[in-house]
Amino acid sequence: MPAEEVFIGLGSNIGDSSTIVEQAMVALGNISQCRLRASSSLYRSEAIGEIPQDDYINAVALLDTSLEPMDLLLEMQAIEHAYYRRRDREERWTPRTLDLDIILFGDRSIDDSHLVVPHPQFAQRLFVLEPMFEIDGDRFIPGYGSLSYLIANAPVISIEKLANSRD
Ligand code: ATP
Ligand code: CA
Ligand code: CA
Repeated sequence: MPAEEVFIGLGSNIGDSSTIVEQAMVALGNISQCRLRASSSLYRSEAIGEIPQDDYINAVALLDTSLEPMDLLLEMQAIEHAYYRRRDREERWTPRTLDLDIILFGDRSIDDSHLVVPHPQFAQRLFVLEPMFEIDGDRFIPGYGSLSYLIANAPVISIEKLANSRD
């Protein structure tokens, strides 16, 4: 099957977030026509946005897939729903049990009402860039630059790599 490389950002800040993110990683690899090629460590980061909330647990997955982007997004949303993601507010950046975002999909640029790729904010988010760097440190992203360049220029937040996955 012709496969493309997809980076997916995972985040959780409600419940047993480490376990949720680890299980979601496995679930991503179990989507049909997807193979989990690499998974980052877990990271703990401070929440962004106006609403005070708990720290997030974040990670990044690298998948090979022959699915089309919209079909992959639907599969990812099914995984989010399996973790009872709360949708009781209209704003973004509200607490959630599981958030799965497509960061990169091969070299594609997508600007659809339901899907924008590369993810519009990824270059500003160390909680995405650092896990990406861990699993694919030499990656150059057309139109953006190298991951090390992006990390050096992203807004500083508090983020720590967890020593082991059960932290
Ligand atoms: P942010 O996108 O800034 O990280 P968020 O993840 O909190 O915010 P959500 O409420 O999870 O935002 O998603 C809102 C909508 O964003 C989704 O219903 C989805 O259709 C759309 N969307 C657009 N681009 C993407 C993408 N690259 N990955 C995932 N969802 C996306
Ligand atoms: Ca998000
Ligand atoms: Ca999202």
